[in-house]
Amino acid sequence: MLAVVPPPVTVRAPSKINLHLGIGDQRSDGYHEISTVFQALSLSDDVTVAASEEPGVDVQGEGTGTIPRNSDNLAWRAVRLLAEHVGRPEDESGVRVMIRKEIPVAGGMAGGSADAAAVLLGLSALWDLDVTREDLGTLAGKLGSDVPFALSGGTALGTGRGDQLVPVLSRHTFHWVLAFDNRGLSTPKVYGELDRLRAVGDPPRVGSYDPLVEALASGDPRQLALLLGNDLQAAAVSLRSNLRRTLRAGVEAGALAGVVSGSGPTCAFLCTDGDSAVEVAAQLAGAGVCRTVRVAHGPVHGARIVDGEDSP
Ligand code: ATP
Repeated sequence: MLAVVPPPVTVRAPSKINLHLGIGDQRSDGYHEISTVFQALSLSDDVTVAASEEPGVDVQGEGTGTIPRNSDNLAWRAVRLLAEHVGRPEDESGVRVMIRKEIPVAGGMAGGSADAAAVLLGLSALWDLDVTREDLGTLAGKLGSDVPFALSGGTALGTGRGDQLVPVLSRHTFHWVLAFDNRGLSTPKVYGELDRLRAVGDPPRVGSYDPLVEALASGDPRQLALLLGNDLQAAAVSLRSNLRRTLRAGVEAGALAGVVSGSGPTCAFLCTDGDSAVEVAAQLAGAGVCRTVRVAHGPVHGARIVDGEDSP
């Protein structure tokens, strides 16, 4: 009898920005508690998983040369973890993962985490597994602190390592312009720089997320713009002084406010509406302060199967 080969499954997984990112002091174990408000954006990676006699990872997209194609790829770690979890590690060797990247690499937008979340969801469909979203969320947390949010999407408060998620009401759609820098930034390096800045001085802290949560519920971008904040921004700017110029240029181009996303170096600019975002993006692209500019909106869904669809 011929074995039936299941058709490939494609999953779209969103990027994230941190509207608020509060970082606690470094603990004796080296770890920082965080409190963050994530928003999932329409800028996303598409990941296809397929049964194959040639297992491995393919990555397509601008600036993806530095991404590992081997078992260090976070997407492949997701294949391995899910296979082990369901007791069929032998199946790992029959999977090919194809990643089409839009999310900037090492850009502070959790692209690797998005790919891992996409694999968890895609493989559970490809293998027709009986795993709940909750199970997938638990596995996601083992892969990295941003992976659970890439699965759930929307807007959420994250505490602990950022993986303890509670949904946050966000009325209306917010419009963003994203400025990608020439090179990525290493997240551990940015945390290290924050520790250094805190040892020698007292960089400002973002405080409570409550006012920002209220602004999200109101749906007013002007109110939200006043409350965007990121404790890692000073560290990212200290390592990449050109970001100061990028942040200024976005506001001069007409954005309501700009903030470094996560550990950077991507800068996210909140705009009044979609038309304004297109104008800000055009002006910012002409200002020559960054590699590439994109428009995006949020909140959007977490990772979801998109077979047969061709637009977000
Ligand atoms: P972090 O989640 O650490 O904040 P980030 O969002 O800034 O990271 P990512 O694009 O997720 O950045 O990449 C972080 C590092 O992970 C890069 O150095 C990259 O080489 C490695 N990596 C492993 N797998 C992937 C993947 N599928 N996509 C992108 N990067 C990956």
